Amino acid sequence: MKKMLAPYRISPQGMRRIRPFLPKFEPVIMRKAAIPVCAPDLTSREAKYVEEAMKSTWISGTGPFVERFENEYAKRVSKTRYAVAVNSGTSAIHLSLIACNIGPGDEVILPTFTMIATVNAVRYCGATPVLVDADPVTWNMDVAAVARKITKKTRAIMPVHIYGLPVDMDPINKLAKKHGLWVIEDASEAHGATYKGRSVGALGDIAAFSLFANKIVATGEGGIITTNSKKLADLVKLLRGHAFTPSHHFWHQYVGYSYEMTNLAAAVGLGQAERVAELVKKRRHNGAMYSKLLRDIPGITVPVEPKGYTNVHWMYCILVDKKKYGMDRDALRATLAKNGIETRTFFVPIHFQPPYYEQYRQELFPVAEALCRDGLYLPSASTLTKKEITTVCSVLHSAVRL
Ligand SMILES: *Cc1c(COP(=O)(O)O)cnc(C)c1O
Repeated sequence: MKKMLAPYRISPQGMRRIRPFLPKFEPVIMRKAAIPVCAPDLTSREAKYVEEAMKSTWISGTGPFVERFENEYAKRVSKTRYAVAVNSGTSAIHLSLIACNIGPGDEVILPTFTMIATVNAVRYCGATPVLVDADPVTWNMDVAAVARKITKKTRAIMPVHIYGLPVDMDPINKLAKKHGLWVIEDASEAHGATYKGRSVGALGDIAAFSLFANKIVATGEGGIITTNSKKLADLVKLLRGHAFTPSHHFWHQYVGYSYEMTNLAAAVGLGQAERVAELVKKRRHNGAMYSKLLRDIPGITVPVEPKGYTNVHWMYCILVDKKKYGMDRDALRATLAKNGIETRTFFVPIHFQPPYYEQYRQELFPVAEALCRDGLYLPSASTLTKKEITTVCSVLHSAVRL
């Protein structure tokens, strides 16, 4: 019988448990003087490269900008020996897992507090995602919880540098070494961030970045894999384009994918990679300004930057304590929206998502749930003006009920 794919649904009983943590509504943004939550930062440099790519008539993944972009990215962003561009961040995660031979029966440890694509990529491989809770201070995966989740089936740990702050990688790499596990970074939100002087994207065996329009380095849709291993780089390069055998074109020794980045997207990426220092500097500058203006408001928690880390504030995030602030996160969002300010609520954790709920129903992830209930990101683009930041902060100051 023919049957279309049906959506996953959570039982009414399950929904009763989850609902108090979910956003109550999406507020309507006042059109006038709207400050968007995030907009790309593009200049004539990117435009010039795109025009050059168009005029060359190379529009597929075989055009020269792809390699130029990869070289520039490896040199300036990830500080790795290799970078391999693909068509999305999700493809980058998927190919990294495939190259590490992750498949059915294998377990991959990752945070429940992340964007859905991280866990979906594990699911594409037929592997089993094993979730850990978030750390209440950094909002990154609770590193201490990782050790408790390792079993005989564990093959990889996938740390995600949430909202631009690197994960504490030393203990993760130590565990991975002890148990013979792959470390695959999901670096989609942390272009240019550093941990103890080393760049994100160079902190494990292999890393995946998203280059989606709102990411710090953007190509619209796109992703890139970074690594210091020539073997892994060569393998993902082969896999991204149907795994054609160089010596016998239509002969395939792997099940390949069609995940190439186009020359046009790579032209945008080259311009962005050349500007990465500026893009990161602006994000960090905006983050510092926000924190200075918001730090003393009772009930508002601002992001941290532990010593030895750089937080690149992909999104500038706050937590709203309903009791101390006098208003909950959703009411504050509505107030900001009335003032033309667009915001987003934090990720809904993986264990609350309909396709994954049943699998993790017996487990507890209280930190991720509280983040989902109280977290909010403010306008975060690198193009944000000083005046826009002061406007946002003044609404937060005047909304507080002492
Ligand atoms: C944006 C993002 C992705 C997905 O990237 P796409 O380019 O949209 O496929 C994956 N993981 C995290 C943590 C992200 O923030």
